[in-house]
Amino acid sequence: MSLRGGREFLMIPGPTTVPDEVLGAMHRPAVDIYSGPLVEVTMSCLRDLRTVFRTAGDTYIYAANGHGAWESALTNTLSRGDRVVVLESGLFALGWAEMAKRLGIDVIILPGGWRRAADPDQLQAFLRNDREGRVKAVLLTQVDTASGALNDIPAIRRAVDEAKHGALLMVDLIASLGAIPFEMDEWGVDVAVAASQKGLMMTPGLSFVAAGPRAKQVHPKADLRTFYWDWSFRDGPEHYQKYCGTCPEHLMFGFRKALDLILSEGLDDVHQRHRLLAEATRRAVAEWAKGGAIDFNILQPDQRSDSVTVLAMDEAHATPLLDYCRDVCGVVLGIAIGPASGRGFRIGHMGHINAPTLLGTLGVIEMGLAALGIPHGSGGCSAAIAYLAEKTDRTSG
Ligand SMILES: *Cc1c(COP(=O)(O)O)cnc(C)c1O
Repeated sequence: MSLRGGREFLMIPGPTTVPDEVLGAMHRPAVDIYSGPLVEVTMSCLRDLRTVFRTAGDTYIYAANGHGAWESALTNTLSRGDRVVVLESGLFALGWAEMAKRLGIDVIILPGGWRRAADPDQLQAFLRNDREGRVKAVLLTQVDTASGALNDIPAIRRAVDEAKHGALLMVDLIASLGAIPFEMDEWGVDVAVAASQKGLMMTPGLSFVAAGPRAKQVHPKADLRTFYWDWSFRDGPEHYQKYCGTCPEHLMFGFRKALDLILSEGLDDVHQRHRLLAEATRRAVAEWAKGGAIDFNILQPDQRSDSVTVLAMDEAHATPLLDYCRDVCGVVLGIAIGPASGRGFRIGHMGHINAPTLLGTLGVIEMGLAALGIPHGSGGCSAAIAYLAEKTDRTSG
């Protein structure tokens, strides 16, 4: 028996569901790359990205996935042999570290493990020992999409400051921008990178970098600079310089619409929507966990991200549950990746999500747990619903 007719729910932590309005905005002929309206799309997106990153710094748009933005951040600020420190909190910072190594950067990884956020005290102690100031940058993610960890960026900034260290702070927001609050300037972040296909509700294919004054100051001396990624070239006056070639027009039409949706809802409201739907997810999981077969991957509640929830489960249960949700109900959940591969799953709750998609997803998971006889505490969905009802209570006027 299958119940999957109708619209499939893509509940993975990226790429995420693209709103119909965004898809519609891309359905049009190509236009002259020198036309005024296209230039306005570019300039308005660069400007609105400042609003979303919460910075007065410079923003850049690349026709690339998130890995491209990683490479831009590194090559525009660093030189061969420079040392960087990477804070592990799952998988993704390690990917950035691997890229840095390939570029000839001297990478030191501060191990953090798989089930917790990066530790500011560990970083502070490390930087205090770097008396010669060899470390040029500190790299980490705001959210690690594989472990589900949320890193405390202001606390990381304080750790750098308290160690009286001058390293640049570079943060990967690929799984958090447009979902979770981020304050680039207020938090003292020097370089921030993001991509289109997660919280920002666009298809894969665009990535973004924001550079603050300290990053721009070291940029002229960075010997890893290459023509395509180079900020200086892209700072030039001509429209083609903003992309180092042809504007990825349709991606930009879509992205313009996605930004319109985010800004018309209001960034604070977007963040609040994510916070409530994430907490509803956690309320459900907390009930299911009472059966002993399912648990949060991130041990400490205040380190769990509002954009993705990662669940730990034994191997015998995880794959059948994901198969059931997809094949019987049309809900696609994220597989566990990295060291937990096969032993758990991920619920992406970022971007174009609302109460029905989230509650539908939780309902299907709870159905699957029952249909497959996986031990779980009852009442997960009821707990999620009760929480959302309380948060949207209209009886008090
Ligand atoms: C998805 C993701 C990436 C990789 O992005 P790509 O677009 O696949 O290159 C990097 N970092 C984080 C935190 C991510 O979630």
